[in-house]
Amino acid sequence: MSDGRLVVVSNRIPTDAQPSGGLVVALHEALESRGGVWIGSSGEIAEAPGPLHEIPHDSYTKLAYDLTEAEHKGFYLGHANSVIWPLFHHRADLIDVDEENRWKYMSVNARVAKLVAEVLEPDDVLWIHDYHFLPLAFELRKLGVRNRIGFFLHITFPNPSDIAALPDRKQLGTWISSCDLVGLQTKRDVSACLEWLRSDTDAEFTLRGRMKLDDRLFEVRSFPIGIDVDSFARAAEAADITIADLPVDQKLVLGVDRLDYSKGLPNRFEAFGKYLSQRQPDAPRATMLQIAPPSREDVEAYRDIRAELESMAGSVNGEHAEIDWTPIRYLRRPIPREILAGLYRRADLCLVTPLADGMNLVAKEFVAAQDGNNPGVLILSHFAGAAEQLDEALMVNPYDIAGMAKAIDQALAMSLHERHARWLSMMRVIRETDISWWTDSYLRALRGQPELQEA
Ligand code: UDP
Repeated sequence: MSDGRLVVVSNRIPTDAQPSGGLVVALHEALESRGGVWIGSSGEIAEAPGPLHEIPHDSYTKLAYDLTEAEHKGFYLGHANSVIWPLFHHRADLIDVDEENRWKYMSVNARVAKLVAEVLEPDDVLWIHDYHFLPLAFELRKLGVRNRIGFFLHITFPNPSDIAALPDRKQLGTWISSCDLVGLQTKRDVSACLEWLRSDTDAEFTLRGRMKLDDRLFEVRSFPIGIDVDSFARAAEAADITIADLPVDQKLVLGVDRLDYSKGLPNRFEAFGKYLSQRQPDAPRATMLQIAPPSREDVEAYRDIRAELESMAGSVNGEHAEIDWTPIRYLRRPIPREILAGLYRRADLCLVTPLADGMNLVAKEFVAAQDGNNPGVLILSHFAGAAEQLDEALMVNPYDIAGMAKAIDQALAMSLHERHARWLSMMRVIRETDISWWTDSYLRALRGQPELQEA
């Protein structure tokens, strides 16, 4: 077992002392308690590729690099977010393959590998995060790095048949096998990955569940990411949100998603409209508050959904609004975590209905934020990674609009007894697999991998 430092690499490094956002909070906490080094891009654009620079921080070392404009366009917006993201979210129809972008993706990975290799000490354990850095371990091995390397993919593993559309398909196996431990969110992801390795590469199963490819042994396992349950519950209790023009007897239906085509927002708006059309005249009014801050606006596939959603909200409101009631409220502003926590607690229902999602932390945050004496209901898509764990949510198929409308009706009429039983069961799961469980179990598995092998 190696006891060296933990070195983390992820796409963006937070520049503020108290970061927000699921992945960033998780890594911050892992490093805060263990110490170590975090390497990532600063978010600044530089004239030319440069060295790492340190961002002052007390409990661990933050080292940032700046991307150039061309790198940001080709590596980040281009290959990572216009090919890998859509393909891994089962949207091969949206991929925009471009040889120059692919080349930039590889060259940024090679450049970051050199920067990381300069920092690494022999006993360090390296933990690489997410789809921006699929080839990073391979690039490090090329430089002769022999440290233990873990990789965690935060998004879904693609359907094996979709991988045929990936321009890097032939290299993907070698990239994966350059790591010692490949962490995925769900068991479904692990089976998809193993099925693909078996059918499309020369990988073989060895004893003790490990795979072997190109003379390297590696393991593929699921580690569903969690949240800091207690801190979320505390924030929710402290927030005490009242919405001035939302009477207490009016039901609040909440949606919180980055504006992304994978989140199933048009289907959700349509289902809410259908629920309103079928609602009994004496049923309490329900207002849907959708928080959807835009992301990746420079990527073409993201431009249309914004207009589409605004038009759908307008049409549902046009049909159902009354002088003193707007059924859909749509906020494009990002909402700070503390306020979000209070909104989750005020909500009677949270709609988490993605078409594909690695985990979906909003689902877990909503559960953590509830008042145990009067908990709200979670409606959850089968296609969110969280569905593998939160089977006491009301499960829906986001493609089935009538089914979702029915689930909204069922949720808003659910007895306190049933709401409480479902919430308790979900709370138990998110407590057992909270954020410290995730980091501890991943790092234990990584450090416990067999002794170093040939690079
Ligand atoms: N979030 C936030 N403010 C917002 C919207 C989202 O702080 O206005 C946070 C939310 O609390 C959650 C994260 O962003 O921690 C979203 O993570 P999730 O896994 O649900 O989806 P992703 O955006 O990573 O696809």
